[in-house]
Amino acid sequence: MKGLYDALVTAAIAALKNAYCGEDSTRFGAAVLTESGAIYSSGQYFSDTLSLTLHAEQAALAHAAAHGEHTIVAIACVSTEDPRKEKYCHPCGMCKQLIYESYRRSNSTIKVVMANEKGEYETKDINEMVNHPWPY
Ligand SMILES: [Zn+2]
Repeated sequence: MKGLYDALVTAAIAALKNAYCGEDSTRFGAAVLTESGAIYSSGQYFSDTLSLTLHAEQAALAHAAAHGEHTIVAIACVSTEDPRKEKYCHPCGMCKQLIYESYRRSNSTIKVVMANEKGEYETKDINEMVNHPWPY
């Protein structure tokens, strides 16, 4: 899987440049690997209301769904938050919930690939990251 995760992280990093946000904003990128082997990526889609902002993970999942791809194998996320480019980007609570629900629907584990801008990463299964899931 390492080669696939490397490709996924590369796609998430590439998505940073198309994030829809202000020039000075932290950029987020995500990429989804589907059962068919396809990769769908996105940056965040910012809203002035803030609460309507689509996170990169949400937008990448929607990008895959728009292509009829509903079974997710892995999702990578990365951000420009750390100026040293070393910290791994973790999905927020809402995105973990959305990824968890995708895992529940497909009944197939989803690997979360948390990356930095250097392309380094660590992985965890989504069910390891959601300790008290809803629905249970
Ligand atoms: Zn999020």
